[in-house]
Amino acid sequence: MLQEQNISGSLIDILLRAHRYYPDRTALIFGSKEISYAELLQESCRVASAVRKTGAKEGERIAILLDNSPEFVYAYFGILLNRNIIVPINHMFKREEVKYILDDSGAKGLVTSAAYTLVADELKTMAASLAFVLQTSQIKGVPVEASLARFADIPKRPADPAVFLYTSGTTGHPKAAMLTHNNLLSNIRSSSRCIRVTPKDTFISFLPLFHSFAATVCMLMPLDAGAKTIIMKSPRPIKKLLRTIRKNRITIFVGIPSIYGILKEMKLPPFLPPFLLKFINPVRLAISGAAALPVEVFLGFEKKFRLPLLEGYGLTEASPVVSLNPLKGPRKPGSIGLPIPDIKAKIIDEHGQALGPGQEGELCVKGPNVMLGYYKKEEDNRQTLREGWLLTGDMAKIDKDGYIFIMGRKKDMVNVRGLNVYPREIEEVLYRDPRIKEAAVIGVPDPHKGEVPKGYVVLKTAGSMTEHDIIAYLRGHLADYKIPRKIEIRTELPKNSTGKILKRILIEENIAPPHRT
Ligand code: AMP
Repeated sequence: MLQEQNISGSLIDILLRAHRYYPDRTALIFGSKEISYAELLQESCRVASAVRKTGAKEGERIAILLDNSPEFVYAYFGILLNRNIIVPINHMFKREEVKYILDDSGAKGLVTSAAYTLVADELKTMAASLAFVLQTSQIKGVPVEASLARFADIPKRPADPAVFLYTSGTTGHPKAAMLTHNNLLSNIRSSSRCIRVTPKDTFISFLPLFHSFAATVCMLMPLDAGAKTIIMKSPRPIKKLLRTIRKNRITIFVGIPSIYGILKEMKLPPFLPPFLLKFINPVRLAISGAAALPVEVFLGFEKKFRLPLLEGYGLTEASPVVSLNPLKGPRKPGSIGLPIPDIKAKIIDEHGQALGPGQEGELCVKGPNVMLGYYKKEEDNRQTLREGWLLTGDMAKIDKDGYIFIMGRKKDMVNVRGLNVYPREIEEVLYRDPRIKEAAVIGVPDPHKGEVPKGYVVLKTAGSMTEHDIIAYLRGHLADYKIPRKIEIRTELPKNSTGKILKRILIEENIAPPHRT
């Protein structure tokens, strides 16, 4: 059964408010280009006009294959203005992966740029549903056939799907989470209240906009507040990122754990005592999401930069923000904080029974942010959505103060002779050794114990530790049954575009080891 909606508004409201109250304010900055809200509205209407000319009908899906750029934002709103549904696609995907999403969503059109011409040309013949491809350069020449006022006549239908957002696919095939206008808008507003966003804030947007985290937190949230966001294609080189922060006086920094890991390790110039950073640096808070923030990184970053670092948690299916550590009030290390307003959280056991404080089980969430369902995946919907609750697939516990602690993905749990071992617990211990840069633990089959943990480690300096040293170190901190049978030292770990370590690839390697010659 599809989710019931608690109706409040439409994403188009974001544009209407800007049109009415602050058209001249800066909305986006991209390199040296400043884009006002009026220009954002104008360019979004241009995309809407171009899409309308193709004959696309209401409710049809239109994909976006663009990297971080103002054009991504124009396409996003333009598609919505035309009452179509957005399908953002990871621009790093190869032809086959893009084709899968176009086919699965039945996309009628694709908005892309010259950078992806080759892929787009091939897809025109490969993807059966695809009737048109619009290049951003073509759109530039399209006259705006109707002003925002015309588009604004659109009856507001908050319960209509706005975006089909494909889950990042760290496990299995990607599935489209159908997110409505209201899902996204309610999530933006609840998150925004927690961190008290004002029009004076400036966000930075280097995380990929096709992913739920950046789309909601770095793009929609500042625009809804009449604030601005600085769009960057990538956070690297880090020096450029730091220059951009200073130059644009960023107030809210949104990142992922690997970026915080780099910043924590960064050498500060000797003439700049850390406490002074607070005065020259306009950032008022930093947010981490998308993956677990190692406690060492959290503590080290806050100490070095004297800034609150709020770890949050979310998933595409929840638009995505579920919880956040409070801005005022204790931030508990290793916790993903408290549910944001309007969202309820509970922990259930394998029979679906609710568990009490401190007990470990699957995290479930309920609220206006929970997706309608997966597109055309009835069986997955039955498994994931129960009586309005979204089963997250993450194992967690909630303490007596209501703070949630994620133990790891349900699927990643390692069963050693019937005892549950959470990779996260071992990874946290590994991260505590200052010589270790990155760590991942998976379960591998074992003829005697069923499964045993296996670790993967990237060292800050090659040769600073051996496998034997690492295992000896772990023995000092963890029960014997949790000690990985083997530790592999690598120069890097496979990751997706939001910095999540792709354990699936490590697991696959252990099922069918790569053939070496
Ligand atoms: P996605 O749908 O790509 O946003 O991925 C959502 C998944 O990322 C969640 O189900 C979690 O497994 C993981 N995740 C997100 N934030 C955190 C966090 N703060 N700590 C641990 N895992 C997280």
